[in-house]
Amino acid sequence: MENGLLTIGAFARASRLSPKALRLYDELGLLRPARVDPRSGYRFYARDQIERARLVAWLRRLGMPLARIRTVCDLAPAEAAAEIAAYWTGVEADTAARRDLAAFLVDQLRGKDPAMPHETITGIRYAALSDTGLVREGNQDTAYADSRLLAVADGFGADGAAAGTAAIEALRTLESASAPLPGDILNTLSEAVGRANRAVAERSPGEDSGTTLTAMLWTGSRLALVHVGDSRAYLLRAGGFFRITHDHTLVQSLVDEGRITPEEASTHPQRTLLLRALNGRDGEAAAADLKLHDARPGDRYLLCSDGLYGVVKDADLRRVLTTSSTPEQAVRELIDLAHAAGAPDNVSCVVADTVPAAG
Ligand code: MG
Repeated sequence: MENGLLTIGAFARASRLSPKALRLYDELGLLRPARVDPRSGYRFYARDQIERARLVAWLRRLGMPLARIRTVCDLAPAEAAAEIAAYWTGVEADTAARRDLAAFLVDQLRGKDPAMPHETITGIRYAALSDTGLVREGNQDTAYADSRLLAVADGFGADGAAAGTAAIEALRTLESASAPLPGDILNTLSEAVGRANRAVAERSPGEDSGTTLTAMLWTGSRLALVHVGDSRAYLLRAGGFFRITHDHTLVQSLVDEGRITPEEASTHPQRTLLLRALNGRDGEAAAADLKLHDARPGDRYLLCSDGLYGVVKDADLRRVLTTSSTPEQAVRELIDLAHAAGAPDNVSCVVADTVPAAG
């Protein structure tokens, strides 16, 4: 020990880390010794480095990348806590996406999924309606539905309307192609999203322009879900009402981190700030959630822009979906509800029912 410093062995015992781990942290730049003897090369540590050593060890155990550990260790405790929470939210979202993919692959390799009565659905019944609302001058939303594709896009910026249309058109080219093999669907969709993003760049050159995209492609047995931004998809199944997309917004990430409540999110001044959207440029920020969703007979789906759910409560969405007899009636009633609430934004919705086979 010199000048109150600990040898690597003593520091290892005090921090309950191995000397090997400490040498590694030094090499990685995560925890530099307080002093290195220039002749012997021996490392010496200060007692007040113990806390950092332990934090590094725990963060490595979490699987946090080294660069991010370095950031966290240099933050004040409150900010470090927020950073760790944000990291874990990302891990969970990624795990959820991989869980869905794993379930899908298991189904595919088993050749069938006995729990899912695919054969009993013959198609989808649908209606789409997009409305300017009562305040905006133009409509930058697009709602689209046909027998294979349901889609809502909420464009923003000077060329927002063109961006939304271009994104949906890129998905429509998928429908005309022959139905891909089930195992290829995720790749096909991922490529389609790339095409949609490039189409947005071509059709809406405005720097600030882009669009959300929430779409479901009927594959004949499943609904493949593509989602980027803050438009939403909901499912009414057996009386239950579920949201099946996750908003890519700042406020949703704050909710996920437990920093604000969902109620606070709905009135947050930055509630429209998107973390991801098709903007024709940023590959990472334009990354879409892709998911294969098992449809069941009697399912009713709602795709909508924030102009609907921003002013109409979940309970009212659910009531309309439960009580309206046809998709046409449902979209009409939903737009009416948005109008009754002042319709400050463009409002778009698509409602679709799975059609059970007769008998
Ligand atoms: Mg909107």
